[in-house]
This record gives sequence, C-alpha cells and structure tokens, in this order.
Amino acid sequence: MELFFELHRDLPREGPGEAVCTRRAFALMTGLPANARLLDIGCGPGLQTMELARISTASILAIDNHQPFLDTLNRRAAQAGLADRISTRNHSMFELDFEPGSFDAIWSEGAVYIIGCEKGLREWQPFLKKGGYLAVTELSWLKAAPPTEAKTFWNENYPGMQSLEQNLAVLQETGYREAGHFVLPESAWWQDYYTPLEQRIRILTEKYRDNEEALAFLRASQREIEMYRQYSEWYGDVFYVMQAK
Ligand code: SAM
Repeated sequence: MELFFELHRDLPREGPGEAVCTRRAFALMTGLPANARLLDIGCGPGLQTMELARISTASILAIDNHQPFLDTLNRRAAQAGLADRISTRNHSMFELDFEPGSFDAIWSEGAVYIIGCEKGLREWQPFLKKGGYLAVTELSWLKAAPPTEAKTFWNENYPGMQSLEQNLAVLQETGYREAGHFVLPESAWWQDYYTPLEQRIRILTEKYRDNEEALAFLRASQREIEMYRQYSEWYGDVFYVMQAK
C-alpha cells in the first residue's frame, strides 16, 4: 500500500478524466436548481470537483477515504477561491449515512467500481432527491469479443467489468432513466493520468532497482498502461449520466 501511494501521490488525477468530459456530463443534467447540492464520491485530489464548482453555483460535498487526496482538494479549492462551495469529508462509500433525498446530484468519476457499479447505482439512489441525477464513469467493454490478452488481463484485474450495453441495462433495472452516455477520449487517459503515472513508474523503478517486490508491483502498473496503449479500441471509460425515476 505504501508503494501504491508513493506511485500515486500528487498525480493530477487518480483515474482517467478531463475537464471537457466533466462539463459534457454536467450539461446532461438539465434543470438542476441554482443552489443544487452535489455529492462527489471517491473524489481523489478532486480535479472534477473543482470543475463542477467552476461551471455551476452548486455546493459540493466531496468524500474520499484517503486524507492526503482531500488535503490536496482543500488546497486547490482555497487557491481558486472556491472553498466556500466545496467541503470535504473523510468517509467511506461503504458507510454512507445521509438522509434520504439529500442531494440534487451524485457524481463519481472512476470510483463506483470500488463498491461495484450495480450496487453503487442501487445504494446511492435513496440519497438523491426525486428526479435527481447520478453521473459515473465506469470501465466498460466497447466491442464484443475482445482479444484474449486484454480479456484475460481485465478478468484478473476487474472481473466485474461489463459491456457498455450491459451497463445501460443495469441503469434501467436499478430505477433510473438514461440522460446520456459517452466514451471518454484517449486524451482523458493519457494527459493527466497515464503519462504522469508512467513517468513516476520510471523514477521508482530506478529507486527500487534492488527491491524485487517493488519492481513486480511497478511492472504490473506498467502492464495496465501497455494494455490500454494496445487495446484502447476494445475498452474504455464511459460516462453514464442517469436520472432517478
Ligand atoms: N475521482 C478521482 C479522479 O477521477 O481523479 C479519483 C478516482 S480513483 C480511481 C478512486 C478514488 O476512490 C481514490 O481517490 C480512492 O482514495 C477512493 N476510494 C477508495 N476506496 C474508497 C472508499 N471505500 N470510500 C471512498 N473513497 C474510496
């Protein structure tokens, strides 16, 4: 775990994403009130939280269970003069204790997989007001019959990964209507996530050149990047925006 956080510390993002995608997904949430209350689950260092605060007049509660990420977000919010509308809480998504109907919208980029997409969609809905929105990004197969190497890798690393069509069906079954969906562009993977991560892997590979356990972990992280480099047409992150029925 220590090496995981040494690898991930102070990266711009902790998963694929970019401001233009956050804006596009937010635009699908039509009719939100000016004083909307938003919940950002698994916010990480919070680039998407910052973007949401910039493009709206909502107040946002951002939660994560890793305090250093929340510290980064608090610093970013203060520097941008947005601290009055962004608050953070160190809290696990497995222990959400909000009153029913607390939020106009729930946001979660790259984090619903932690609880499981279907479970997250079901469990988070009661915290939404009637007609409230949920926006998540979720790793999804984009085409049928992916190459064996990609399929084996993701079966081992994320066995719960579904196809885009399966996720759209889950969304309906769990009591939402689709407001829209789109695949994140490759730039969202590289610019703020895989490119800085790859640089960090290079630095740590040198630092831990005599530590076989550390090197094995770093090779596994590099392998995930190579998978995407080679097979990005087969899978990707999809933004799913939905409205509670
Ligand atoms: N949304 C951020 C982004 O796109 O940069 C972070 C995405 S990162 C892939 C997943 C985030 O979920 C991390 O910040 C991690 O600390 C957080 N996380 C992991 N387990 C959690 C839990 N049980 N409750 C809340 N957050 C959790």
